Amino acid sequence: MGHLSSLRLYNTRTRTVEQFAPLRGDEVRIYVCGLTPSAQAHLGHARSFLFFDVLRRYLEFRGYRVTYVQNVTDIDDRSIATARERGTTFDVVMAENYASFKASMRRLGVREPDEEPYATAYIPQIQAMIRMLIGKQYAYVVEDGVYYSVRAFPRYGELSRRNIEELEAGARIEVGEYKHDPLDFALWKFAKEGEPSWPFEPYRAGRPGWHIECSAMSRELLDPQGVGFDMHGGGADLIFPHHENEVAQSEPLMRRPPMANTWIHGGLLLFDSRKMSKSLGNFEPLSQLLDRHDPQAIRLLFLQTGYRKVMNFTEESIGAAGSVLDRLKKTYRLLRASKSGGDKGLLQRVDEALADDMNTAVALSHLLQEETPSLDEFERVLTLLGIEPHASWLEETAVTLPADFVERLKSALGPSTPALRAFAQDDKSVSPEALLERIIALRNEARTNKDWAKSDQLRDALASCGVALHDTSGGTTWSVVA
Ligand SMILES: [Zn+2]
Repeated sequence: MGHLSSLRLYNTRTRTVEQFAPLRGDEVRIYVCGLTPSAQAHLGHARSFLFFDVLRRYLEFRGYRVTYVQNVTDIDDRSIATARERGTTFDVVMAENYASFKASMRRLGVREPDEEPYATAYIPQIQAMIRMLIGKQYAYVVEDGVYYSVRAFPRYGELSRRNIEELEAGARIEVGEYKHDPLDFALWKFAKEGEPSWPFEPYRAGRPGWHIECSAMSRELLDPQGVGFDMHGGGADLIFPHHENEVAQSEPLMRRPPMANTWIHGGLLLFDSRKMSKSLGNFEPLSQLLDRHDPQAIRLLFLQTGYRKVMNFTEESIGAAGSVLDRLKKTYRLLRASKSGGDKGLLQRVDEALADDMNTAVALSHLLQEETPSLDEFERVLTLLGIEPHASWLEETAVTLPADFVERLKSALGPSTPALRAFAQDDKSVSPEALLERIIALRNEARTNKDWAKSDQLRDALASCGVALHDTSGGTTWSVVA
């Protein structure tokens, strides 16, 4: 294709849509906060990872060399509590849930990260960072652990646009916490009786806080020089306090802040207008949801909504996405069956849409509106959006057509009809499916030319073969009638 549109992305740090340029050559370094697998993942988690998967595919499509890091928070309070209830250890709980999450990601077509650092494998780096923060008086040691001193960092609240005085008014110190200020947060929690711990000289054994893990791992893997990396992402619920705290920990130790040039946050997912949670009784593990719904339909559903918007998931919305998927499959089968080249230009239009702050909804509408795109471009766009056609796309509805469809159609239309003549030479290689799509295309042509007699004749012929046509704003679909 010709030239690429300039890429504009919304940056949470500046609250504006900015033109994107990598910090270093053609490299794009991305850190996305990964899962804390102390409980099973749900679809809300998946939305964010699906978006970053599309962003990564698109950056690669544009020719960038992408390094994508997504961490695993494999130690936290909840996993310790769950392990205790079940009479096992935290790492067993984490490993089970994480394996299930990974299997779900594969089903959704989300590619593996380039690096997948486990927090417990970065204890020395985490401790080195904590020591530096203590040395520079951004952190202090008390009876129950090491805390970050929020008041020591004047820019605290800048990323999330929070006012420190208001935050202070709403915060309090819990029983058993020895921090100096309610806003301060733990970098290292000293181990209590029976808790998993790592030695930390010259302080005490314990475990890291969640926020410091991401600061240490992103620095180690993406920015050892302390001059910043390109993109830091996660769900919008991570902006505060998690990402705000990451900035507060990382930036005082950098040679040249900011920590990340562009901060990208995906919108939240609601289920029937509510947050999914065990206490509301609407919790469904991702793995189960994927047993009920086609993962590709879920992907399409997410692509239909802007990534920054709050999205409401309902059984109806996933049903509608399923029919969109069917239309894509039909177009794909038609293109595979047709001998003609198709029109170029789809890829260019999809690039324009994605360059506009990843407008996947518009990209998808181009994919659906295109009359006869070239098969090559159609396949490239599907891959770009992570909806790769697989073998079942070719078979799926062919088996649902009546077995004698072709024979019945021939007798209904008469063998000399042009639509059938086109297929006469190589009857065996033509699927009933492709023939049907060809008839639908001819009928649409007749409708465009206001040749109603011909259009009706084709529709009636199909009806006599047990196929009903439905004209919708998005095009013509069909179903088999008894
Ligand atoms: Zn993080």
